Amino acid sequence: MKTYLVTGAAGFIGANYLKYILAKHDDIRVVVLDALTYAGNLGTIANDIDNDRCIFFKGDICDRELADRLFGEYKFDYIVNFAAESHVDRSIENPQLFLMTNILGTQNLLDAARRAWVTGKDENGYPTWRKGVRYHQVSTDEVYGSLGAEGYFHETTPLCPHSPYSASKTSADMVVMAYHDTYKMPVTITRCSNNYGPYHFPEKLIPLIIKNILEGKKLPVYGDGSNVRDWLYVEDHCKAIDLVVRQGKEGEVYNVGGHNEKTNLEIVKLTIATIRRLMTENPSYRKVLKKQEKDANGEIAIDWINEDLITFVKDRLGHDQRYAIDPTKIMNALGWYPETKFEVGIVKTIDWYLNNQEWVEEVTSGDYQNYYERMYSKR
Ligand code: NAD
Repeated sequence: MKTYLVTGAAGFIGANYLKYILAKHDDIRVVVLDALTYAGNLGTIANDIDNDRCIFFKGDICDRELADRLFGEYKFDYIVNFAAESHVDRSIENPQLFLMTNILGTQNLLDAARRAWVTGKDENGYPTWRKGVRYHQVSTDEVYGSLGAEGYFHETTPLCPHSPYSASKTSADMVVMAYHDTYKMPVTITRCSNNYGPYHFPEKLIPLIIKNILEGKKLPVYGDGSNVRDWLYVEDHCKAIDLVVRQGKEGEVYNVGGHNEKTNLEIVKLTIATIRRLMTENPSYRKVLKKQEKDANGEIAIDWINEDLITFVKDRLGHDQRYAIDPTKIMNALGWYPETKFEVGIVKTIDWYLNNQEWVEEVTSGDYQNYYERMYSKR
């Protein structure tokens, strides 16, 4: 029986990971620690928690007392740290929160683990560690900075972050590696490209576009839409983390990506086309549209769902041009590969959003609404 501490599991990737590991491994117990910021929604994991396999605690990863109490009580074998402030635009508005959570929160978890896991000292003065424990840091390809038209990020690519978000994630990675080098702490890091899939908060590109289409709003695209991201279906990321936590080599970084590069404009156009196709094949989906005008056949009209909805807005400050991951290391070392083709993943994702509008309503109330108005209404 292994006991996990999974932080940030009320957020997008953490929630998908929690569901994945609970379904995959019978012999585990999970403690979830999440501060339930605007990005964390307990409803997402309501059916997974508060039973003898999974317990939820609302709390801040920066809270030392809480971390020590949880480590004392549950004797964790694995820590998987998803908790973070994760939205680049918000980091441009309020960098300090990102540095506090993403760097100091990581350091707090590492120190709590050190206090709980160190068993003594070896002959050279290095700490000795309880057998079989592992700290895993969920990181991002944004730590590498930006690429030109050619080339890929490798694990050895120099770290060169540009936004406050990516700078905070880079710093956290460096702290994690410093604990490995200084204390021989058993750590691993995964650096993944852009994820998409169910439970993605609708401030990020794909769910934002879906939400705006359903509400009949314009579709904001930064700059000329030419920025390139590598998109990976979230479950494939969860599988990669599961492999690295259990079989990855201590002190190693693994890049995770889908070899699926698309410009932001391509993503928006594909999302428009896919929604339109799904609503043509299955007109009952049209019920979720806020705009309920009828077409000539008496069906709810969808002809207005087209590329005319796209509106180009002022570019993000310091916007990185291109990210592209080389995942060869994890493929060769652990047999991982991106299983979900983008054409399949995007349909699964849109289908999920069309069937889960209650979830969208729930997460987009309150704080998010104010933020959304501030960011987009004046453009
Ligand atoms: P998210 O914003 O959807 O979720 C973050 C979660 O962390 C939320 O549940 C939030 O309540 C919680 N949280 C925030 N601050 C906290 C604190 N101080 N203490 C405890 N909990 C706190 O983020 P996500 O998209 O699921 O990303 C998860 C992780 O994966 C992040 O570390 C992010 O940097 C990394 N990542 C994300 C992507 C992506 O495409 N979304 C890609 C690569 C890596």
